[in-house]
Amino acid sequence: MDGPARLRVHLDEAAIRDNIQTVRRLITPATTVMGVVKANAYGHGLVLTARLLTRHGVQQLAVATTGEACALRDAGLQVPITVLSPPPSAVMVELAARGLRPSLSTLAAARDLHRAGVRLGRPVPVHLEIDTGLGRFGWAPTASSIAQITHLATLDHLVVSGIYTHLSSEHPDSCADQLRLFTWMYTKAAAALGYRPPRHVLASSGLAAGLHRRTRLEMVRPGALLYGLTPSYSRTASMLCLRPVLSLTSHIEHLTCVPSGTPIGYGATYRTTAPTVVAVVPAGFADGVPRQLAGSGRVLICGHYASVIGCVGMTHLTIDVTHIPQVVVGEAVILIGAHGERAIDAQEWARLAKTINSDVLTRIAPTISRTVTTLPHAERELPV
Ligand SMILES: *Cc1c(COP(=O)(O)O)cnc(C)c1O
Repeated sequence: MDGPARLRVHLDEAAIRDNIQTVRRLITPATTVMGVVKANAYGHGLVLTARLLTRHGVQQLAVATTGEACALRDAGLQVPITVLSPPPSAVMVELAARGLRPSLSTLAAARDLHRAGVRLGRPVPVHLEIDTGLGRFGWAPTASSIAQITHLATLDHLVVSGIYTHLSSEHPDSCADQLRLFTWMYTKAAAALGYRPPRHVLASSGLAAGLHRRTRLEMVRPGALLYGLTPSYSRTASMLCLRPVLSLTSHIEHLTCVPSGTPIGYGATYRTTAPTVVAVVPAGFADGVPRQLAGSGRVLICGHYASVIGCVGMTHLTIDVTHIPQVVVGEAVILIGAHGERAIDAQEWARLAKTINSDVLTRIAPTISRTVTTLPHAERELPV
C-alpha cells in the first residue's frame, strides 16, 4: 500500500454494547434478540459487526441474502442466521447444508427446501413469513395460506424455528390490525404444525414505541437501534439515548492558499470571497459521500467544523480550513463522528441528502477498511 488509506470506518464497541443494553431495557429478559445485519450491517461491515453483536449478547442474526449468510458462516459465526428474502431454488442445498434459516412464503419453496433436507438426511430449520400489510413477501392471512401451511407441516424434513411478520408502521391503529392478523395466522399455523415456534414481529420502531410490553413475543428483530440510528418512521426513538457506532474519517491530502475570487470545483459553483486555505480530502461520492454536502455540508478538523466548498467530486472533497490554525497535510478529517462535544452524524448527512440515515450509511463503499475500537477486556478474551 502506498501511504495511508484514503478513508477509514471505525466502529465503537462500547456504543454497540450500550445500544444492545438499550434494546434489552425495552424487552423482557427471556426475549431473544435477532440482530439484523443485512446490507453490510447497514454499511458498518458485515462480519465485524456480527462479531461485536454476538459478543455482547445478540443471540441470532438476520440478513437479506444467502450470500451474506454464507459470508458469516465462512467467517466462523455459528449462531442461528435467518435469511429474510425468499430463497431462489438454486441455493436450497447450500442453505440446508450450512444450517441457515430461510424465510418461506410459498409452498413451492418449502417443497424445494424439503427435498434438499431429504438429500442431506437432516431437517432444515425455516421461518415462515406472514404478510400482514407490508405487501412484499409472506403468506397472506387467508384460508388458502392456512391450507398450504397445513401441507408444509407434513414435510418431515422441515422444522419451523420461527413465524414472523414485519410491521409497516408503528402507528397504533395499523399495527394493531397487523398484530391481529398475525395472531390469527399464528394460531392456525401452530395448530397445523402441532408445536408453537417462536414468534417475532418487532423491529426498531416498534421496539422504540414500547410495543414489546403489549406483544411480549419470544423474539425481536432490531437493526437500526443496534447501530445507534433513529429508525426512519419512529417518533419515539429520539428519547432512547442511542449511541452512534460508526465513524468515517479521512485526512488532508493537499493544501492550497488561493486569493479572493477563486472558483473552486466543477462548474465553478463556489467562488472564494477572501483569501482562503483550501484542503483537499480524498473522499468523494464514489466512496459514499453524498453530493448534497456541497454548499452546506461540513467536516471536523482539529476539533473545528469546516465547510465543504465547491462540488463533491467522485473521489475528492474541498474544504475551507482558513480558520483552523496550523493545519497541515495529513491532518485527520472526521466526516461522520465526534470530536469532544462536536459531532456530525448520519442524520445530518441524511437531512442534507433528503433521505434517511440508513440510506446514507449503506452507501459507504464496502471496500473501505473497517476497524474497531475494542473494549480493553473484550480484546483479550475474544479477538475480532
Ligand atoms: C430490515 C428489517 C428489520 C430491521 O429493521 P430496523 O428498522 O432497522 O430495526 C427487521 N425485519 C425485517 C424483515 C427487515 O427487513
